[in-house]
Amino acid sequence: MFKDCIPFKKKALYLVLTIPIVIIFILIVLYLWQTGLIPFIIYCCLFLLVIMLQSYCCAYQDCPYIGKFCPGIGGITILSSVIALLWKNTKRSEKMFNLFASIGFSCLIGIVVFPLFFIYKLGIFVLISYLVIAIFYCITFFALICPFCAIRDTCPGGKIAGQIF
Ligand code: SF4
Ligand code: SF4
Repeated sequence: MFKDCIPFKKKALYLVLTIPIVIIFILIVLYLWQTGLIPFIIYCCLFLLVIMLQSYCCAYQDCPYIGKFCPGIGGITILSSVIALLWKNTKRSEKMFNLFASIGFSCLIGIVVFPLFFIYKLGIFVLISYLVIAIFYCITFFALICPFCAIRDTCPGGKIAGQIF
């Protein structure tokens, strides 16, 4: 764990990168709500799953940002850091961590991929813009945020980002 990264120092950069993504998520939620109840529920469930599963991972990793401002991916995982407080006094295992991290990561991919078909209905330009923004966000997050996170040496995401960038 990198103590000099506590508290997280690149808060302004994190917010600049994350707020547009959160706005896009909200717009997609509203759009799917108009499209139909089933896609709306599926999309919301993906968020809920990511937040809950990540909260276990936050607690398992004893992340120093738990309950405070944290550089969680996509902005949504900031909620995980608060929910992680509930796991603090429970027994945690590596097996569960690996399982939850894998499912959580799949759901995170699902959040990006699931609305593609519905966004395509708005036009190819909207779809391409969405993909460009999503890819740009992922690259900038792992290149500019992850390397300044206190648990980048133990977190699976941080380790991968460290190898790539
Ligand atoms: S930085 Fe990551 S592990 Fe730490 S509290 Fe936030 S979401 Fe959880
Ligand atoms: S190392 Fe990266 S992926 Fe892992 S908790 Fe920190 S910012 Fe998130």
